[in-house]
Order: sequence, then structure tokens, then C-alpha cells
Amino acid sequence: MSLFKKKKKLFQPKEATSLIRRMISENIKEYKVAYAIAILASLVSAGTSAGLVYLMKPMIDKIFVEQNTSLIGLISGAIFFMFLLRGVSSYVQAVELAKIGNNLVARYQKRIFDQLMRLGMDFYADKRSGQLAAQINQNVTGIRDLLNMTISSIARDAISLIGLIAMMFYMEPILSLVVFLIGPPIVLAVAYISRRIRTVTRDLVNLNSHLLGAMQETLQGITIVKAFTMENLMSQKISALIEQSEARSNKIARVSERTTPISEIVAGFAIAGVIAYGGHAAIANQQPPGAMFAFITALLMAYEPARRLARLQVGLERSLVNARMIYEILDIPPQQADKDGAVTLNPKNGDITFDNVCFSYQPEQPVLANISFQATAGKITAIVGASGAGKSTLIGLVQRFYDLTSGTITIDGQNISDVTKDSLRHSIAYVSQQPYLFEGSVGDNIRYGRPDATQDEIIQASKLAHAHEFIVKLPQGYDTPIGENGASLSGGQRQRLSIARAIIRNAPILLLDEATSALDNESEKKVQEALEYVMRDRTTLVIAHRLSTVIDADNIIVMEAGRIVEEGRHEDLIMIQNGIYSRFYELQSGRQGDQHDIALLEDLQGNEP
Ligand code: ADP
Repeated sequence: MSLFKKKKKLFQPKEATSLIRRMISENIKEYKVAYAIAILASLVSAGTSAGLVYLMKPMIDKIFVEQNTSLIGLISGAIFFMFLLRGVSSYVQAVELAKIGNNLVARYQKRIFDQLMRLGMDFYADKRSGQLAAQINQNVTGIRDLLNMTISSIARDAISLIGLIAMMFYMEPILSLVVFLIGPPIVLAVAYISRRIRTVTRDLVNLNSHLLGAMQETLQGITIVKAFTMENLMSQKISALIEQSEARSNKIARVSERTTPISEIVAGFAIAGVIAYGGHAAIANQQPPGAMFAFITALLMAYEPARRLARLQVGLERSLVNARMIYEILDIPPQQADKDGAVTLNPKNGDITFDNVCFSYQPEQPVLANISFQATAGKITAIVGASGAGKSTLIGLVQRFYDLTSGTITIDGQNISDVTKDSLRHSIAYVSQQPYLFEGSVGDNIRYGRPDATQDEIIQASKLAHAHEFIVKLPQGYDTPIGENGASLSGGQRQRLSIARAIIRNAPILLLDEATSALDNESEKKVQEALEYVMRDRTTLVIAHRLSTVIDADNIIVMEAGRIVEEGRHEDLIMIQNGIYSRFYELQSGRQGDQHDIALLEDLQGNEP
């Protein structure tokens, strides 16, 4: 619920028009031709409505009153032609508008996704991905409705209404004036209702995305749900959300449908009045009834477009909320933008130096303080520390996910904030604790490491990562599609795929967040061997969870509450009397017996006296 937690003041009319203007100006160029065709078709269709009304008068007066047989064929032929034209033009108009609408949705979806890819990690810090996706979907459709509504109401309804009103005045000027005096009450009612719609809509979008996000998260975590027998609890939580959303939708319906009885009553009053007056006038003045019939026809035909136009504002309000939520994302300036004149990072060896680095996610809450150390080129630097000590933050800073509060991080002497993010991240291969796999085949997932890698290189990398042997046994080998989260692969297999991805990247720097979950011995050994290969000759910064990793590391950095408290090789650190590392190592080795190489390090915090 955090994306739009700051409730902004609702729209001012000026803001609404400027939003619409912005959307139109951003999109009109693409669709000039389509819009032109749609508007032309609307003009034709409006013309046919006016034409039908116009034909009413001769039809009644000539055919029915004067009983002129020679005109029957001509007039009914003309009426048929009008309907034909109307059918064709309505079709063209509807198809063109739908094409514009679908393309708009596609364009906004692409723009939003590109923006999401550009935005820094700070944007994602407090967001749930499921909710974000749901929110975007709802809002993009809202934008389509908005533009469609504005365009089609203007093109179709406004044009035909003007034609019909012109006809009404032409047939019965005085009566027309009277009818138009009753318009203002409808306008007032609609304005009142629109104000209410805005608040309810924003609530509904938030609620729905909460709901869809919660569903998605629950399904993603289905193993946990089952393991902890949370099924009923989850069902209850979701159904509470569903009911809230249902209630909100009902409320929107109640509020927005309020225009219907109002306009029906007013319209009924107008039409009944016209018939009463017209009937009396025709009888009293012996007028031919043609003009009156034409007038009533125009009035009846005008009712639908007029009603839609009256409701336009209500619908617009709803869509404007969606549009604004989309622009709130599109308008976020990406953080950690490349500096003007940023250069390409050219790592020769891959020495990483932290010099007095301080960092906080939120002002006044320091997470890292005065961090200085060097991760020497080609060597393994292990980071250990209690959870919350700042290890992941430190790894994130090397990738410049966030900007430093003070201090510098340099790679071979180049400050990482002076180089392009692209070149920085191309120099880094990252293996996360959770091996993420994406939509696509097994081969694609390895290729994400370096899109231009050849098939041979991919096979080579997979062999080095001990992944080749299981990949070839999959039904379609490297082309086997991966289920969501790679559900058909074991934990160890997924880890080996993500290691192959890091190998294929062939970057001088490796950032590694060791998996905390224990694998079976066979898998463990293979993953370990794969990691040993990938670390060889690279500058490796590893968040260590395994004893073997720290024992083999060239340097160990012990962190506590955002500071480095001890640093050195394993042999040095265990000599420190009462040192954090030595205390913890004693506990571990006592507990794990001779299983050092694969034992998982336990949280340092739990081992403090
Ligand atoms: P570790 O990896 O050692 O467990 P982290 O680097 O994840 O530690 O976290 C260090 C501290 O920073 C913790 O207190 C954590 O709550 C905080 N923290 C981590 N990520 C964020 C974030 N995105 N926004 C705010 N605080 C964060």
C-alpha cells in the first residue's frame, strides 16, 4: 500500500485538463491518421442521424398526410441509404478507436516497464512487486478508457448531438429553446457526483492491487503456506480483502449510477411535455404533423448521446485517477543517474577499495559507518556478521544500487560514482542467495549473463558450473522452458544455473551472497566446486555463510552494526582473545565436529555471550 501512501489533494479542474492535454500531446502524433479516420467516420454517422430526422418531415407530411405515392420509393430509399451509411461509418469508427485504445495500452505498458527498469533500488525498497504489477495494470486500462472516452464522446456523441440539435431548432425553434432550459439541473447533479467518484476510485485501485498482490505472493510462497498450514488463515485474509473490494465497487456503482435516475426523470419530463404541447398545437392550429414528428424523433435520438456526454465527467474522474497514478511513476526521476561526462569503467585488475564509506537508507539512520577496506584483485574477501550488520547493503553499494552518504568506493582507482552504471555492472557478476530464474528456457537463463554468448560458450559455462550434466537430461535440454521460479528444478540445480550465468558473464568482479539453505551432500559438493571455479582469478566479495568459505578466504571482514570490527585471515582472527570471530569459531567447530567444509555458519549474534 506504500506506493501512493501520500494522499495528495484531489484534482483541480485545471489539473485535470492539463493531464488530458499532456496525454493527448504525448500520443496524438502517433495516431493522427487513425484519429482523422475516426473523426471523419463520426461526422458521417452524425450526418446520417441528422439526415434521418430531416427525412421524417416529408415522410409524414407527403406520404401519410398528402398521400403522395410517387415519393414513397424515393423517401424509403433515402432512409435505407442513411442506415447503410450509418452502419458502415459506425463500424469504421469503432474499429479505429479500438485500435487506438489497444495501442495506447501497449505504449503505456512499455513506457511504465522501461521506467521500472530505469528506476533505482530505492524505488523498490518499500514496495511489493505483486501489488505494483496489479496497480499498473489497472491504471493503464484506466488511461485507455480515459482517452477513448474523451475522444469517442467528442467524436461520436458531441458531433451527432450538435447535428440533432441543429435539426431540432430547424424544425421547432421555440420548443427547442424550452427544452434546453431544463439542461442545467442535470449538469449540477453530475458535477456533484464526480467529486465523490474520485476518492472512491483511488481507494478501489489501492485495494485491488493489495488484493491481487496478496494473492500472487501467497501463490509464490505456496510451499510455506502448506508447510505452516496457513491455508485457512490465508483464505480468510484474502476473502476479507475481496469483500472490501466488492463493497468499494458497489459504492462506486451506487455513486456513479446516481446520474441515471436523475437524467431519466428530467428526460421523461421533457419528452412528455413536448408531446403534450405538440399534440395540442397540432390539433388547435391544424398544423401538418411532420415538423413535430421530426422534432420528437430528434429529441429521442439526442437522448442517448446527451446522456453519455452527461456521464462523461463521471467516467473521466475515475480514469483521471488512474492516469495520475501512472504519471506518478513515470515522473519519478531515476536516482543514481550517470553523471554528466561519466566515463566507462575499465577495470584492469579489479581492486575494490572502500574509503571511509558512510551510508544510510533513511536520513539520520546510519546503516554503514566509516567502512574502509580493500578487496584485493583476484582474491577472496569474505564478509561475516550478524544479520542486519550491513553485509547486503555493502554488496549493493558496490553495484551502486544507492548513492553513498560520504566516502568513496573505487575500482582500480576509478570512483564508481564517476563511471557509467552500465560499464560498472558489466564488470560485475552477481550470484544471489536466492537463485532467481526468469521466464524463458534454461539456455536463456544462462544467456542473461551475457546476451551475445554463443551456444558453445553456454555449454562450456554450464559444464564448469556442473550444470551441463542435468541440463542435457531435461526433456528439451537447453531449450527446456523454466516454470515460474524454476519449479521443476531442485535448489542445487537452480544455484548451479545461476553460477553458470555468472561464469558466462566473464566479469573481473564477483559478488556472491552464499545460499543459507543446506543442500544434500552431493548437491552441496557440486555447488561448492562450481563456486570455487567461478571465484578463481576474480576479485570476489562474498557474504559468507559456510565455514569452508571463510577458512579459504584471503581476507575476512567481520561486521557488527554497520562497522568493521575485525579484519584478517582466519588464522589471525582466531588468535584474537575473546574476539567476535574466534568466539564464534570455537562455538561452531565444537558444534559441527569435523564437518567444517560444508557447515553453515550460524548467526554471529546468537553466539555472543
Ligand atoms: P545484512 O545483510 O548484514 O543482514 P543488511 O545490509 O540487509 O544487513 O541491513 C543492514 C541494515 O539496514 C538493517 O538494519 C536493515 O534493517 C537496514 N535496511 C536494509 N535494507 C533497507 C532498505 N531498503 N531500507 C531501509 N533500511 C534497510
